[in-house]
Amino acid sequence: MNVHEFQAKQLFAQFGVPVPRGKEITSPEAGASWAAELNTPVFVVKAQIHAGGRGKAGGVKITKDKAAVPGLVKELIGKTLITHQTGPKGREVRRLLVEEGAGIAKELYVSLLVDRDSGWPVFIASTEGGMEIEEVAAHTPEKIIREAIDPAVGFQGYNGRNVAFALGLPAMEPAVVTPFIQMLGNLYRLFMDKNAAMVEINPLVITSDKKLIALDGKVSFDANGLFRHPDVQQMRDLNEEDPLEIEAGKSELNYVKLDGNIGCMVNGAGLAMATMDVIKLAGSEPANFLDVGGGATKETVAAGFRILLKDPNVKGIFINIFGGIVRCERIAHGVIEAAKEVKITVPLVVRLQGTNADEGRKLLAESGLKLEVANDLWEAAQKIVKLTGKAA
Ligand code: GDP
Ligand code: MN
Repeated sequence: MNVHEFQAKQLFAQFGVPVPRGKEITSPEAGASWAAELNTPVFVVKAQIHAGGRGKAGGVKITKDKAAVPGLVKELIGKTLITHQTGPKGREVRRLLVEEGAGIAKELYVSLLVDRDSGWPVFIASTEGGMEIEEVAAHTPEKIIREAIDPAVGFQGYNGRNVAFALGLPAMEPAVVTPFIQMLGNLYRLFMDKNAAMVEINPLVITSDKKLIALDGKVSFDANGLFRHPDVQQMRDLNEEDPLEIEAGKSELNYVKLDGNIGCMVNGAGLAMATMDVIKLAGSEPANFLDVGGGATKETVAAGFRILLKDPNVKGIFINIFGGIVRCERIAHGVIEAAKEVKITVPLVVRLQGTNADEGRKLLAESGLKLEVANDLWEAAQKIVKLTGKAA
């Protein structure tokens, strides 16, 4: 789960990571009174959407004129912001962050995430702040610093010194070395205490008066840990999430929307991944990842159909079930029942394997439903790709 910048900064403040004074604003009137209260030489008005690249897209406005703040709020609220991370449709701006501006002497990059190889939390840092870190990694990989933290020991002072020295901070600005090391320790506590999946500050700035401050903030959370953190759950913004993914969550389906046109209904995450691969191999693109789980029932199958058919990109459905815990004839009954409730308007290919597969296939063949039954994964993938036409 992702949160907005202003929420990330609230968490930073709770854990002692320095942030500018700021407030969430949703109307020009609130902007005016907050600007009066802030009373600072420079005001920054920032669009709050779950996507980066706002600066370049016109989502960050800077003014020295207090009286200009309400106008900037009015200009940004309701605007659709298209950044390189939003996709071509963009995102509607509903909330803003109005904060005090900082005089920037140097922009750095710092993040903390889980390293997939070691399984340890790892700090990533760079002197190239304010830029896309992926670009820095692609063109100047030597400018990316990594420091893995042994979770059994936790963050130690030497971890912080390793990062500070590798960045060349003592030569750059000696006054920020100690605060920087403390800040990394605080980020580590935030990351562990809140079960974060990623914490990122880009840019982390050294100000012209030699202070360190997080000018931007991004935090994402491991959904499996959310039940422990009601405060974080309250930060969820459903406007920023895909409506089909929200609906799937209610039925406890594991659904991720993708851009292709073959809807997939599969049991088990591994088989779902293999199904997406085989669709690509057969020359098309999956419209989604959908794991209906080991205990798929008639209800989950029906909910899955409803969600798949609500996606206008779906031109065909591929059901791929391996009967292990769940028996294939039950799934077949589920498909038949679901098809009575939900009108299926696109071609359907069903591949059943495992326990009672023969019985399941027979039920489907005799159901009178317009569908094709396949035994083999490759055969099934080719069938559905043929029925839907190649991806554009
Ligand atoms: P992003 O583009 O979505 O990553 O949004 P950021 O919060 O990183 O803002 C983009 C850029 O706006 C930053 O890299 C800064 O250069 C600039 N910016 C943001 N806040 C301030 C500020 O307080 N003062 C100044 N001078 N520039 C700022
Ligand atoms: Mn940024």
